[in-house]
Order: sequence, then structure tokens, then C-alpha cells
Amino acid sequence: MNYNKAVFVKSAQKISQLPADSNAEVAFAGRSNAGKSSALNTITNIRSLARTSKTPGRTQLLNYFKIAQHHYLVDLPGYGYAKVPGEVQVDWEKTLSEYIETRPQLRGLVLIMDVRHPLKDQDQQMIHWVTSQNLALHILLSKADKLTRGAAANTLLQVKKDLDLYGDLVSVQLFSSMKNTGVDEARAKLDTWFA
Ligand code: GDP
Repeated sequence: MNYNKAVFVKSAQKISQLPADSNAEVAFAGRSNAGKSSALNTITNIRSLARTSKTPGRTQLLNYFKIAQHHYLVDLPGYGYAKVPGEVQVDWEKTLSEYIETRPQLRGLVLIMDVRHPLKDQDQQMIHWVTSQNLALHILLSKADKLTRGAAANTLLQVKKDLDLYGDLVSVQLFSSMKNTGVDEARAKLDTWFA
């Protein structure tokens, strides 16, 4: 798949507004500030791609990027942002869980977690939602450059161990948008899902 071909096509507020021509899509999720936009930019090699998702008014929407005919990457709203009022938070959760539970085109979900703060409550909730749908999950432990090689490797091992119970459904890798590490591995995983 040529991820460099990604172009923004639409923002959807509700499940009913998702593109009808999608045959296969992979969604990106994570806590606000985990590095999701940067990861999307790095994987597609288009610096400005996920900035589109950050324009005011679009942060609570599902943002669709077309990478090929009938194939999409989906930038899901970041979660856990303290400044969001409780009601809005609940709305997002409803939309997110509905999306994961009712979108047959969804091939897998990429979850971005800051390597320094992995497996927060909402991450665990997301992992639970996704795997209980028998949907594949790939975790990027982002900002790996912020730790020493040894510390990053230890975190990778620990997170793998914690998620061992999910078996092949869940995979984990180190990633850094700043240093461009783990990009080929991430693209290879997406390729298997789109194949
Ligand atoms: P998002 O809210 O999850 O979309 O997070 P962003 O991609 O906007 O990143 C949040 C902050 O983390 C920004 O200041 C980024 O520059 C920084 N950041 C993202 N990825 C990396 C990385 O790989 N390494 C480092 N050192 N900083 C990063």
C-alpha cells in the first residue's frame, strides 16, 4: 500500500456519515498528546496530514484519509483530554465504541501510547473494546526517542507481557516520529490488514 498517497476526504461526526465507498479501513486512536498526529504524519510521510484533524471543530470527529480506491486511514478523536466537559467525553466514548462495534470495514486499530506512560485506564478500555470484537490491535509505543534504548526495550517487554493474554490479536512495537524508528514495521502491519 502506498501510504504517501493519503489525502483528506472528510470529517464525520456520526456513524451515519462515514464514507459509503470504504471497503477497508484502519483506525488510529490514543490519548490526546500521545503522538497520534505525528505517527500518522510519519507513516504517510505527509507532514501536514493530521494537522487537518487538529483544526478547531474537527478534533471530535472521525477524520478520513483515502490511501487508495476504497481504502482509508481513520484518525479517531483523541481521548482523555482533561479540558473536555464530561458530557462531551461520554459522547465521544459512545461514538468510538459504536464505531468499533458496528463498522465491518474496520480491519484493525492502531493504538498510540506514549512509551513513558503506557496502558492508562482509557487505553485499557480501548484494548478491551477492540479485542472483545475480535478485532486486531497494533500498539505503537510512541516517542521512543525519549527513553534510552534499554529502558524502551524494557517497556516493550513489559507491555507485551501485560497483553500476552490477548495472544495474536494484539501486537506491540516501539515507534518514534522524531527519529523515524519503527515506520517500516508499522507500515508492514497495516499492509497485512489491508491485504
Ligand atoms: P496527538 O495529540 O496524539 O495527536 O499528539 P501529537 O502528534 O500532536 O504530539 C504531541 C506532542 O508530542 C507534540 O509536541 C509532538 O511534537 C510530540 N511528539 C510526537 N511524537 C514524538 C516523537 O516521536 N518524539 C518526540 N520526542 N516527541 C514527539
